[in-house]
Amino acid sequence: MHKPFFLVGEAWGEREEEESLKTGRPSPFVGPSGRLLDVLLRSSGIGVGETREDLRKSCFITNAFNLRPNNNKVENILVEKKFGYPGIPAFKPGKYLPEALLPEWLRLYSELNSVNPEVIITFGNSALWSLTGQSAIRTRHGYTHFVKKCVSCEKFIPFWLVSTHAGCLATSMGGKRGDEPNNPDAKRPVWGEKGDQKFREIPLIPTYHPAFLLRTYKWLPSSISDMTKGRKIREGRAPLDPLRLNPEPTLAEIREFREYLRNSPKAPMAVDIETSPEYRAITCIGVGTSEKALCIPFADPNKPEYNYWGTVAEEVEALTLLREILNLPNPKVLHNSPYDLIWLRAIFGLEIKGPLIDTMVAHASTYQELPHSLADVASVFLYFPPWKSFWKSRKLSEEGDKEEDK
Ligand SMILES: [Zn+2]
Repeated sequence: MHKPFFLVGEAWGEREEEESLKTGRPSPFVGPSGRLLDVLLRSSGIGVGETREDLRKSCFITNAFNLRPNNNKVENILVEKKFGYPGIPAFKPGKYLPEALLPEWLRLYSELNSVNPEVIITFGNSALWSLTGQSAIRTRHGYTHFVKKCVSCEKFIPFWLVSTHAGCLATSMGGKRGDEPNNPDAKRPVWGEKGDQKFREIPLIPTYHPAFLLRTYKWLPSSISDMTKGRKIREGRAPLDPLRLNPEPTLAEIREFREYLRNSPKAPMAVDIETSPEYRAITCIGVGTSEKALCIPFADPNKPEYNYWGTVAEEVEALTLLREILNLPNPKVLHNSPYDLIWLRAIFGLEIKGPLIDTMVAHASTYQELPHSLADVASVFLYFPPWKSFWKSRKLSEEGDKEEDK
């Protein structure tokens, strides 16, 4: 028997406030946003049935704040840095959580502990913020985040207390992600957050708030797709371990990877390049299957003269191996391939062989009505954000690195 989905909204609107004061208990999602939430629940398959009661039967629904901010804007209950509760990052520049509101979040965590959900879905920026400290919903929606649960006391640990939750020494293990002792890649930097043996990580999928969708209807399909991911995670039909990516391979490891690909000639191979147009350089090239991936760097600002490879001979060998990999008969998957193909040919003189599928073209022809940018397409089909958003040390300059978190 599954535990309920744990759904978190932001704060009360007009109807929620009325209803909550009338009934004497918090009544989240009862107004217009509530009607759209019901649509989302039905469309994502989380809810079944006709009535609101039926549709919400498999859910526990709450808010980050059980109160109504002025003009329904969470910013209006936040304070400047010097009055903010220490250790909790800003919601937006200059907007911090006042200590007076901390009990709201502690109430939220105690609800988590009593419901003990397998999957959490947050609606809107401040709901995501209350459980992760993050608030860039535009870039984070649809990707798997995690809330930590102590394996010893079995409690959900507020994100600002994770590093100090030392009173509990793990006596039992199990259910952990990452860092497996037998994993040969464990010593390397890995894509995504590292698991921790003291905590079990409970998946959280952020999506837009229905009140926002009512004003910006074009994101409705994104929200349905985000919530569908939440359902698939609970059904055990989604990957919860990020793919292991080796971002700093040796020549021997590239050679080994070529052999692996030669032995699986039918495995679709994703190819992607990162470029630095101002230096007219390809900084690295990623190749991977659904099992494992390798990023072959060429430029590296941490090495002498920005060269990842120590000698010309090594760089030539890396390029030769790359040429052999790109010439393998495996089907290739690229996003916006004309860009990559032109760069590969112009800078390295490389061509790609084998059938080629372009995900941007495929998405544009299959779903004409949806946005087709890499970020939008990736948020529909992937469970984890692009690895480069975790790891930026290979940028040749900080220019062009502004997006995210603003
Ligand atoms: Zn504990």
